[in-house]
Amino acid sequence: GDRASDLVTRTTCGYCGVGCTLDVHTRDTGILAVTPAPDGPVNRGHACVKGRFAYGFVRSPDRLTTPLVRRSDRLEPATWDEALDVVGRELARIRDRHGPDAIAAISSARSTNEENYLLQKLMRTAIGTNNVDNCSRICHAPSAAGLIASFGLAGGTNPAEDLDVADCLLVAGANVTQAHPVIGARIVQAALRGARLVVVDPRRTELARLADVHLRGRPGSNVAVFNGLARLLLDRGFVDEEFLAARADGVEELRELLADYPPDRVADLSGVPPDALAAAAEAYGTARRPAIVYGLGITEHVHGTDGVRTLANLAILRGAVGTPHGMGVSPLRGQNNVQGASDMGALPDVLPGYQRVDDPLVRERFAAAWGTPVPERPGLRIPEMFDAALAGRVRAMYVFGEDILATDPNSGHVRAALDACDFVVSQEIFPSATAQVADVVLPGSSFLEKDGTFVNFDRRFQRVRPALDPPGQAYTDFDVLRAVGDALGVDLGCSDPAAALAECAELTPVFAGISHERLDREGALHWPCRRLDDPGEARLYGTAFATPDGRAHLAARPWLPPGEPPDADFPYALITGRRLVHYNSGTMTRRTPNLALVPGEHLDLHPDDARRLGVGEGDPVEITSRRGMVTAPARVTDEVAVGEVFLTFAFPDVPANLLTSSEVDEVTSCPEYKLTAVRLRRA
Ligand code: SF4
Repeated sequence: GDRASDLVTRTTCGYCGVGCTLDVHTRDTGILAVTPAPDGPVNRGHACVKGRFAYGFVRSPDRLTTPLVRRSDRLEPATWDEALDVVGRELARIRDRHGPDAIAAISSARSTNEENYLLQKLMRTAIGTNNVDNCSRICHAPSAAGLIASFGLAGGTNPAEDLDVADCLLVAGANVTQAHPVIGARIVQAALRGARLVVVDPRRTELARLADVHLRGRPGSNVAVFNGLARLLLDRGFVDEEFLAARADGVEELRELLADYPPDRVADLSGVPPDALAAAAEAYGTARRPAIVYGLGITEHVHGTDGVRTLANLAILRGAVGTPHGMGVSPLRGQNNVQGASDMGALPDVLPGYQRVDDPLVRERFAAAWGTPVPERPGLRIPEMFDAALAGRVRAMYVFGEDILATDPNSGHVRAALDACDFVVSQEIFPSATAQVADVVLPGSSFLEKDGTFVNFDRRFQRVRPALDPPGQAYTDFDVLRAVGDALGVDLGCSDPAAALAECAELTPVFAGISHERLDREGALHWPCRRLDDPGEARLYGTAFATPDGRAHLAARPWLPPGEPPDADFPYALITGRRLVHYNSGTMTRRTPNLALVPGEHLDLHPDDARRLGVGEGDPVEITSRRGMVTAPARVTDEVAVGEVFLTFAFPDVPANLLTSSEVDEVTSCPEYKLTAVRLRRA
């Protein structure tokens, strides 16, 4: 074709939760380029190396283009009719013989709101169970639990725009320039403009090097550090007494607890020197417009919810949330739509909009609309699904758009759980490790082939529009889920994604004003958005908090030890995470030119440890935990502290999650990816 036939499709990036607006330029059936939209509300003309360049996966020869069905122990191509027939028959058989709770589904934080809405509806209606969860369980579930308890709603308090006017940014447990690069660049700009920057991170990240203060605590010490900061804010009078009296509870209880957190003790618990703690308290405590931004370094711990709550304490003490000068508390969501997957009710205890399944009025409203009763008992969380499979209580799993064998912790345990199931369905775009052990594989679609919406990290609904058709016989995931409903004899309704969001909005007061039509006409909308003329609430809690009593709640939570601290046998602390070029399990980015930039995994190791182990740059190192062993070449760097090492899980030949443990957050069951005890040896 010539230039005149080129098309430009405006959509939202499918990688991280920042939610950059992208223009996808296509000619015929191929992508010419992806460019950041100059008027994108979050990115304003910027994008990172993932969103901008890592789109080639979409036409990779590895794409699944036909359904696969296991026959005599091999996955073989099948027609849609054959595959759907097996799925419908097996799920119905297991439901009828073992009960609806013998089936569990993991929904996809990589997929649209409309698809997540449909999958939870499928499980609750066609199967009759609340056994549906999504990967926020293993990343930001502590954010939802912690922010609801502190402030009332399960999302960040302020929009991205507020980062530009903050005069102090406290960035905790987030390697923002690598994992959320467009927000990272914005924070760097704020720092260069003169905003004070405090970084809480065990690693000396790019942002930590730039920071006014770097609080470099040991992994697992967040609660001690935040309690230490809270104590200093109180001791030094850096608190908003008027705000506390009028709008918050729990200050006396907190004050009592904090008697145990003088700077010297905090230093013992965390390794953070008292002078650094004092400098951080002074920076955040004296700022006029302080902001907190945090990531998985806070949530992915056995006390992750306590981490969120004790961090939120700092904003409450300063009156820095729900006030004109308060730049709030913002969780940086990892996957593009992990906020939306949760918002849509792909969770075992809540329906869309966090409406509880154990509330009879809520159930009645959904049952009336769906024409079938909604199960009352909350379902299983992801880690519980695996335990239940091993115990024979879960017999079938439906895994939508997640490679759980690569990304969930303690992969050996996950593999055993899938093996124990009678029937596993994987709805996928690549032959992932999980797809390879499934009984039926249903080929779905990538974000570049979808119509729908995502909710990005600051509760912003944005449109997703298809630039391409799914390849071969693949369907959009929306159509696959509808077809699975049909195979089970249930019409899920929702003839298209716009209708699905309309149905969800009708049943969910906080989304009632949101529709595709409005998003197309007006652009992005923040929830809560309660009426069609409601502009949406970018900044929350201006008049009251959304807790039952309308007040913010301080949390008096002690520091407690991590799940698996290093010891004599396993003396190193392994931290797992992400790097700039690759995204999570690497399924997409490894199939793009980004692979040339970072072709393989390496273990970050401090020079002193490298010397002690006799390991040079590039030498292979055996990394062994109580559960498994992997080998990776060393990268000797002081980005990690002595006694700490770092790996990502982006490469299948270094399956980091063979090492990670089944230790989980006591409140939400979020795994402790950020601390695994390991030993090291030159291979
Ligand atoms: Fe996509 Fe995130 Fe990069 Fe933006 S910052 S282009 S949303 S990966």
